[in-house]
Amino acid sequence: MRITNEQNDIAEVLFSQEMIKKRVDELAAQLTVDYEQKDPLMVCVLKGASFFYADLCRSMKCRLFMDFIAVSSYGTSARSTGVVKIIKDLDKNITDKHVIIVEDIIDSGLTLKYLTELFHARKPASIKTICLVDKINKHQCEIKPDYCGFTMGDHFVVGYGLDYSDFYRNLPYIGILKPETYE
Ligand code: 5GP
Ligand code: MG
Ligand code: MG
Repeated sequence: MRITNEQNDIAEVLFSQEMIKKRVDELAAQLTVDYEQKDPLMVCVLKGASFFYADLCRSMKCRLFMDFIAVSSYGTSARSTGVVKIIKDLDKNITDKHVIIVEDIIDSGLTLKYLTELFHARKPASIKTICLVDKINKHQCEIKPDYCGFTMGDHFVVGYGLDYSDFYRNLPYIGILKPETYE
């Protein structure tokens, strides 16, 4: 039997379970106020944003719609390729809807920029972006999320939905992976 303990591969916890919960609830409270009469369409960018999205939507107190899009930009490596591929598109039409794109983390910003432009062309009533974590020094394009949980420097992190090679997503916190794990 193979015994693994993913927690052993974490060098440092950046955002603890408690920090994440508190911040997600604050963001949800803000969205509840800002979108009270708007029935926003919450778009989850799979798979990384899955936990953030579920906790955020559950904590919001207004009516909302849910839909999911799956994109790939990283493959299995820890570096950005800059190539965005739609693996699963939204189920529903977003025309005249108030769309909120829920993203896990911004690195180069290319994924969120691509999605924002793609959705703009579908003529929504409005479009805003929210990310849990923003690596503010790493953007390769003009991008600023409308709502943001945390900012951080240049590290590769996993947990709370974020993966390395599809592992570590179910860690309850966000932490820096030991470099020897992927180098
Ligand atoms: P971007 O297009 O902004 O360079 O990267 C977007 C996507 O790459 C994110 O939505 C996320 O899925 C992935 N990504 C970026 N930085 C990290 C990171 O530090 N850890 C993990 N696990 N994924 C990341
Ligand atoms: Mg993502
Ligand atoms: Mg990934």
